Amino acid sequence: MYLKSIEVQGFKSFVHKTVLEFHNGITGIVGPNGSGKSNVADAVRWVLGEQRAKQLRGSNMQDVIFAGTENRKPLGFASVAITLDNADHQLPIEYEEVTVTRRVYRSGESEYLINGSGCRLKDVYELFYDTGIGKEGYSIIGQGQIDRILSGKPEERRELFDEAAGIVKFKRRKATAQKKLEDEKQNLVRVCDILSELE
Ligand code: ATP
Repeated sequence: MYLKSIEVQGFKSFVHKTVLEFHNGITGIVGPNGSGKSNVADAVRWVLGEQRAKQLRGSNMQDVIFAGTENRKPLGFASVAITLDNADHQLPIEYEEVTVTRRVYRSGESEYLINGSGCRLKDVYELFYDTGIGKEGYSIIGQGQIDRILSGKPEERRELFDEAAGIVKFKRRKATAQKKLEDEKQNLVRVCDILSELE
């Protein structure tokens, strides 16, 4: 699996539709200070479902929408789509090419799509569990992140190893099953109460 392209429109400094294509080997993005290099990494984090504005260097989620310049009006929406080659089926989906899209409008509406079909944020998270690519993955190492990993709490560091070992999806499923069990236990207690009142 590898990243084939990123399409951005209305996201941060990318006012026009811009497509970045990646090929085999190493790709470097170069440009003067403030020209938008880090915005490319932010776009990838965002499309993978990042919900924390601070992680995207903003104060609220609408900050990702092109805010306008002296000569250009602000835009009403931001859209990012990443396309991954999935010929090796590392992503648990039948398609050989997977495009994940996220859009947000100033009105606050937002949508996620996988290969053009609307989906939930949860579906995007699940698609990338244990691949190292998801929003908590280690495929994007930001400035200062190595320090944070080394000086972080053991539990936080453990999360990285869990992701690399491929057990995150099982842990999530276990947590969901445990929650369901707990809910059912509460229901049983309620049923027992009602039964004893009826007796
Ligand atoms: P450096 O080399 O200094 O780290 P960089 O090339 O990584 O810089 P970025 O941090 O990606 O640059 O881009 C910063 C630019 O993006 C700034 O000019 C900022 O005004 C612009 N920008 C960020 N958010 C928005 C937005 N919502 N609308 C318009 N422009 C934005």
